[in-house]
Amino acid sequence: MIVVLLGAPGAGKGTQAKRMGSTMGVQHFSTGDLLREAVENGTELGVRAAEYMDSGRLVPDDIMLGLAGELLDRKGSGAGVILDGFPRTVPQAKGLDQLLLDRGETIDLVIFLDIEEEDAVERLSSRVSCPKCGSVHNLTTDLPMTEGLCDACGGTLVRRSDDIPEKIERRFEQYQRETHPTIEYYRSQGKLDTVDAGRPIKEVQEAIRRILSRNGEPQAAG
Ligand SMILES: [Zn+2]
Repeated sequence: MIVVLLGAPGAGKGTQAKRMGSTMGVQHFSTGDLLREAVENGTELGVRAAEYMDSGRLVPDDIMLGLAGELLDRKGSGAGVILDGFPRTVPQAKGLDQLLLDRGETIDLVIFLDIEEEDAVERLSSRVSCPKCGSVHNLTTDLPMTEGLCDACGGTLVRRSDDIPEKIERRFEQYQRETHPTIEYYRSQGKLDTVDAGRPIKEVQEAIRRILSRNGEPQAAG
């Protein structure tokens, strides 16, 4: 099953994708993972992507689609995957459809994590994460057991450099302008399911679980 998770910054895509990945037993890829891996491996696309990232610009559609194509080749046809943060624009969404079509595959489901901007901003400004293992904590709703330290690995929790008010605002504008239109794109294909993502993580997870099982994905309990 190929699932795309869409949503504004702070909607909880990364957290939910990780949980879905482990219950569905499939891999989860975020845009960040794809880019990091390509840059680390020094592939041609990775080198080009790094130039944009180093100068603080968004990586263009053709590079992202190239990376997505490599990911699809690696995963092999028929294997499930959860995409989070990609596609980010309508051209990327169209390009992804074409890549899948060429491989005889298709997106099965797009889950839109819908959140009010106010709630998302509040979440992002209280978010800290562990650079060692990627765990995320929220200083208002999900405190770590030991102040400042990761529950999973003991690493020092840090605030992401783009989780500051000015940058959050810019990410939202970018999301509204470029990513929000992909929601209509998928709605018109009849693939979109919307989940109210302003609720606690566990409730959102349960809502996603129900959508997946309705779509024939066997689910482990919990
Ligand atoms: Zn950790």
